[in-house]
Amino acid sequence: MMLLRSSFRPALRGLALSLCAAFAVQGQLPVLKRSDVVFMYQTARQTYEDYGATVLAWGGKPTPASLEQARGLKFFGSVGMVTEFGRYYERFPQTYEQGLCRGLDGQPYKVPWLTDLQHKGIPFWWCCTRQPLFRQYISERVVETVQAGADGVHIDDHLGTAGNLWNGGCFCDRCVGEFHDYLKTLPAGELARQGIQDPAAFNYRTVLLDWLAQKRGRRVLDHPLWSHWRIYQLQGAARFMEELRALAARTAGHPVPMGANAGLLWGNHLNDFKALDLFSAEIVHQASDRRLSDAPLVAYRLADAVGRPLASTASGWDWAYIKEQNLPGLVQGWIALSYAAGHCLMVPDRQWCYTPEKGTHWYEGPKEKFAPLYQFVRQHRGLFDDYRNYSDLTVVFSSRAFDRNPPRLIAACGELAAANLSYRVALAGDEVVDHPLKAEDLRLSPRLVVLEPQDLSAADRVVLAGETQAQRFPGIKQAIAGIVPAARVKTPAAARVLPRVKPGCAVVHLLNPSYDAAGDSVRPLKDLLLALDLEALGVAGATRAEFFSPGAQPLELPVTDRSVRVPALGLWGLVEIRSPAQSDLRQPPG
Ligand SMILES: [Zn+2]
Repeated sequence: MMLLRSSFRPALRGLALSLCAAFAVQGQLPVLKRSDVVFMYQTARQTYEDYGATVLAWGGKPTPASLEQARGLKFFGSVGMVTEFGRYYERFPQTYEQGLCRGLDGQPYKVPWLTDLQHKGIPFWWCCTRQPLFRQYISERVVETVQAGADGVHIDDHLGTAGNLWNGGCFCDRCVGEFHDYLKTLPAGELARQGIQDPAAFNYRTVLLDWLAQKRGRRVLDHPLWSHWRIYQLQGAARFMEELRALAARTAGHPVPMGANAGLLWGNHLNDFKALDLFSAEIVHQASDRRLSDAPLVAYRLADAVGRPLASTASGWDWAYIKEQNLPGLVQGWIALSYAAGHCLMVPDRQWCYTPEKGTHWYEGPKEKFAPLYQFVRQHRGLFDDYRNYSDLTVVFSSRAFDRNPPRLIAACGELAAANLSYRVALAGDEVVDHPLKAEDLRLSPRLVVLEPQDLSAADRVVLAGETQAQRFPGIKQAIAGIVPAARVKTPAAARVLPRVKPGCAVVHLLNPSYDAAGDSVRPLKDLLLALDLEALGVAGATRAEFFSPGAQPLELPVTDRSVRVPALGLWGLVEIRSPAQSDLRQPPG
């Protein structure tokens, strides 16, 4: 069931040879399959096996014992840019203060979600990833993780210093000084507009302090130069990730896959996607809404848009709520949604919880509730691997629009999900996210809707204008009114429908959204009539389907009048439809 460690290592070495060109051009290694079962933290051998684990995403620095325990798993060792203050202090006990972030007042500041932690009486200060001493610390940690035998490196809090922009950010001498190099790249007209005569002598800390003092109630985020400061810090974070990726590869002597805790729904977190092979990240699941949220689907579609897999977990706030309210049934829905979207929720075996009142605490997930879902995926991996999202509609928006107001675009995509329109995202880049629109991305669906087009670059507008074949909709509501989805449930039962396709085959995932927190379970739906556009799904002429669901035997179902009748749906079911040629291939001779 699991990959053998000894077979994975040569595979990586093979990648070093066979993917050399691809590595140079695209920089991404194929690290996850759709059917992988990903653990966050190290655990007991038996627990790995109980879940069918194939990957460890946030492991510690490997030891012979932990490698043996995780035998057969791809082992990612985790390095934290924000969470390792104690370790950093022990590395540089005399000089650690050199590496601390500084606020406008020149004082260090704490990590807001680690305020309850101390090391030898010293608070967990936020450390600056522009400061040479802290960069040395992080670099050493990457090297030691690779040398200890990790297959890949996970970076927690990958934005480093830039992760605190929402709270004001770092104004240490190094951050202020290196801003000069960024300012020198701006056009003269922009510098003049900002009132900057000599970029090399510019001190943004002083400028901000003067500006704030001029009027009560001002916020640094509203200063006219803030957007440049933001770009500067996020670009710097991406460059550091590229350095770490190269360092890991040099250390190992072959490309080393990199993951990061990129909270895609918080905005800003795609800045370094080109230096990453996967996102193994905290994604807000809105647990306190006590229903299955459509928001994580946006994260999965953003990950698709940049061609990276997303092994997600919920936020510390979500897990605190699940623990407090004891709602593992809601988590079952998160697991099903993740695989239906073509990605995965990391096994909720032991989860970090956080609230300001309780600080850090932990949720131990009930294995009997979760393991059967992961085992279902492993037992039917052929229904997951190599499939891609079938999209009725491509939603085009820019990274700039998303980062400015993530909730607005998450809500727009949520309307599509609620209407059972399967969408994909074509993400246009900006100064932070190097991802220009490509014509082929716009041709994966026959229909387009462009959101907040004013934020698209001139080059992206040209690419978009060149796509004259696609049917266009002026907005989300018009798209919902004007599109008949390729897979839809015709009966009143409101199952969520997520079709996935590969040549000659379609797998339509059905999710039951009737979750009731009072009983912590879904109400079974009866007699669903699933209408299918067989041609659009690439399975023209199909006459048979098969229905798979966790805990039940597969069920043969006829395709009649371009429809499949599903007798009952619990949490999650998959309707597999094959084109006649594929069906023949599957049947034994005679
Ligand atoms: Zn700094």
